[in-house]
Amino acid sequence: MSRTCYSVTCNLISSCVRQWAGKAQPKCWQKIDVCHQAKIFLHRPNPKLTRFALGLRRVRRHDLNKHLVTMHVHNDPLCPACGEDEEILLHFLGKCCATMVTCYHIMRAYTLQLKQLCKVAVSNLLQFAKV
Ligand SMILES: [Zn+2]
Repeated sequence: MSRTCYSVTCNLISSCVRQWAGKAQPKCWQKIDVCHQAKIFLHRPNPKLTRFALGLRRVRRHDLNKHLVTMHVHNDPLCPACGEDEEILLHFLGKCCATMVTCYHIMRAYTLQLKQLCKVAVSNLLQFAKV
């Protein structure tokens, strides 16, 4: 009885896993019932943008006061910059009067409705969040 041996390198395994993940991730992104606010702006996973966004403190939803109140970490859901409305992603990106000028310089509008925000390039949203 003879046996055939095949050598499998770590690089080959890594490559296969990356290919599998690349195909599986978009399907999972559509199926999961979380990340509603992220899905408004990203219609499919983007690893490069994800790495960049995770490096920005203000983009993470768990830093926004409304979410911190929901998580019982904080008592005040109001925006710390203007104090006029709950600090949710839509307020932070498109409605905060304290960041209107910055919003205008980057996105060419002082305020943005959800429909308008969906049309803004993600790179501009991230540039705004970084400021
Ligand atoms: Zn505000």
